[in-house]
Amino acid sequence: MHELSIVQSIVSIAENEAAKVKAARVEEIELEIGCLATVEVEALRFAWEYGVKETLLENAAMHIKRIDGRARCIVCGSEFFVQELFDPCPDCNSHSVSILNGQELRIKSMIVT
Ligand SMILES: [Zn+2]
Repeated sequence: MHELSIVQSIVSIAENEAAKVKAARVEEIELEIGCLATVEVEALRFAWEYGVKETLLENAAMHIKRIDGRARCIVCGSEFFVQELFDPCPDCNSHSVSILNGQELRIKSMIVT
């Protein structure tokens, strides 16, 4: 499952960070996931249960912050919210848009002890 490998890479990044400060465990972790990121949040939560077993994150409270998709049209310069990666510009209908936000998939913060 795609989401399990995402969880595993989050765990390994978080464990590396925790090791730097010699933390025994991660209490809390906040993830930022853009609405355009190719990840299913429900599947991620499900995969999380398995992925964190026997790691420093086993009992960590996990929070997910969603980031809205936002793009700028390269043709007319208009900025707009996007639901899907290939949505056209609502003003001029161009598909030449650059994504500003929404593809994030990262650890925003963690609390370790
Ligand atoms: Zn446009």
